[in-house]
Amino acid sequence: ATWQVTAAPAMLSSGRGILLSFEDVTAVEEAGQMRRDFVANVSHELRTPLTALLGFVETLKGAAKDDPVARDRFLTIMEREAGRMSRLVEDLLSLSRVEEGERVRPTDPLALSDLVADVAEFYRPLAQAAGLELRVKLPEAPVTIPGDACQVRQILNNLLENAIKYGRGGGRVDVSLTGPLAEGALRSDGVRLVVRDHGEGIASHHIARLTERFYRVDAHRSREVGGTGLGLAIVKHIVNRHRGRLRIESAPGQGSRFTVILPAR
Ligand code: ADP
Repeated sequence: ATWQVTAAPAMLSSGRGILLSFEDVTAVEEAGQMRRDFVANVSHELRTPLTALLGFVETLKGAAKDDPVARDRFLTIMEREAGRMSRLVEDLLSLSRVEEGERVRPTDPLALSDLVADVAEFYRPLAQAAGLELRVKLPEAPVTIPGDACQVRQILNNLLENAIKYGRGGGRVDVSLTGPLAEGALRSDGVRLVVRDHGEGIASHHIARLTERFYRVDAHRSREVGGTGLGLAIVKHIVNRHRGRLRIESAPGQGSRFTVILPAR
């Protein structure tokens, strides 16, 4: 623990003295440290693509100026790096927006079945392009919950993007929604949204840390597939705002299952 000690002169019955007060500031220290780590991480994440961009601009102005083949190649790389920065900024904004509103639980009715079907249709061709079949299972009766449509859509986007990015070679991705009164479910369970892939899976010691900002199992691989390291942190905050729960089950070589449980009322 970190203690903050303050001393002040005091008048005591036995004469003049000093009053010492001790305050446990561990939590404040930790919050400060987290903020500093976060700023350091963001700076690093932005600097990497920025350095690449500046380097290629220099090359384009100089050596590659009259070489159309090199120029095209460099422009393609620059586009990719700029895209990376843009995604990072978008994710940072999402994260701060979600954190901002986290105390207020959404109350608007959200037609979850329609949303899941809609998002799945959007991702189906992307999954196909990655050699994956996207299977969707919806409950017979439409499910409605109190929820923020944009944010719940973002949960699905992020989980599906990951399933497609890290689920390559797994053949298929399963998305399922189960209503609050599904067989075997407790009334208090709420609705259950599952995104399951059959890809590389995750070693157990990483699992508890996946929702930390910028935590990646393999940073190089994440960047390669266009990840920002913020997707699951955003998911966790949105789930918290809905007073729900996020469960991650995974094992190397066996794929991963992300379950989001959201209160139905
Ligand atoms: P990223 O933008 O890097 O994908 P996320 O916060 O979405 O960031 O995920 C954090 C890390 O968790 C990823 O870098 C990856 O290592 C791991 N991960 C997330 N989803 C999956 C998955 N479906 N299968 C395997 N690993 C995953």
